[in-house]
Amino acid sequence: MQLETLAIHSGNDRTGDRSAVMPPIHLSTTFERSADGSYPGGFVYSRSDNPNRQALETCLAALEGGAAALAFASGMAANTAVFQALAAGDHVIAPDDAYFGAGKVAHEVFGRWGMQYAIVDMTDLDQVRAAVRPNTRLIWVETPSNPLLKVTDIAAVSALAHEAGALCVVDNTWPSPVCQQPLAHGADLVMHSTTKYLGGHSDLTGGALVLREAGELYARLRTIQQWGGAVPSPFDCWLLRRSISTLPYRVKGHCDHAELVTRFLADHPAVEAVHYPGLTGHPGHAVARRQMSRFGGMLSIQVKGGATEALAVAGRVKLFTQATSLGGVESLIEHRASVEGPASRTPQNLLRLSIGLEHPDDLIADLAQALP
Ligand SMILES: *Cc1c(COP(=O)(O)O)cnc(C)c1O
Repeated sequence: MQLETLAIHSGNDRTGDRSAVMPPIHLSTTFERSADGSYPGGFVYSRSDNPNRQALETCLAALEGGAAALAFASGMAANTAVFQALAAGDHVIAPDDAYFGAGKVAHEVFGRWGMQYAIVDMTDLDQVRAAVRPNTRLIWVETPSNPLLKVTDIAAVSALAHEAGALCVVDNTWPSPVCQQPLAHGADLVMHSTTKYLGGHSDLTGGALVLREAGELYARLRTIQQWGGAVPSPFDCWLLRRSISTLPYRVKGHCDHAELVTRFLADHPAVEAVHYPGLTGHPGHAVARRQMSRFGGMLSIQVKGGATEALAVAGRVKLFTQATSLGGVESLIEHRASVEGPASRTPQNLLRLSIGLEHPDDLIADLAQALP
């Protein structure tokens, strides 16, 4: 079945729900046992499993073409679970441009547990190869990356990981499974902040992992999820499953609008650089074409000048909202360096744009009046 169909039907099991076409929210934390002590509904306790979470996980696995999925309370809870699945002293190779939180927990939490890591420019396969050590167990990929939209070759890095006896995990939050399906290119594990495009309306926080195989790693991650307890609420699972029904059509709109906005920005005299993998001049364009069906709704620009000039543009927009996060129906703009703080590697003149589903002419008019 095609993605649009899976997004609507996968996990929407109607049996036992009084013929309701849309599933109810199962708020109960506990489930009744039969006289013989068995669990006729298949559920015991809501931290371990819940009907809404199970429906969501079934759907997420289908969207990414995986064997199994696990839902978490946030993207960072999913990210943390992957690090927790490693053994003390394991070595991780991570990209120089990636979601800020991944580096923060690697350094401040897992460093204390002996996790070692190397940071490389993952667009350069020689750098990845040179960073491999005997104890390398994980290569972390984020493509297109945050906030510079660098493109990593998933198939090539997965092959390097497997040669080294390591896993390749891809943070697929930005492209969503509509634009990119990393498991089909050889990755072992996909991570999502479902807070973003999958949720799509900036009203829920969630995370997910999708695995190519339901093997030993899956069992370990399931233990971390069920006993670590960073699980999403039944309401959030229900809301997310509901949002996913429109994901393929929302993402098509985000991509269409981002392409139009990018074309406007690329010609603007106050814009020094536009970072969007759909542009033929983008250094990762050829790789992006191979592994992405569309180029997503996220882009960054560097305005002429520094932090002051960039913050002034963000302060002048009227339709875009100046706020962090992404993937909602409303357009957002953010001066990334100031939200990341002094440890940020992000250029001071960079603005990150999450292109929403408002009419693209209105978005372009807003940027036109905000740019000097
Ligand atoms: C937002 C984001 C995360 C973190 O997810 P939360 O849901 O905020 O915990 C991780 N990776 C990427 C690429 C993100 O955009």
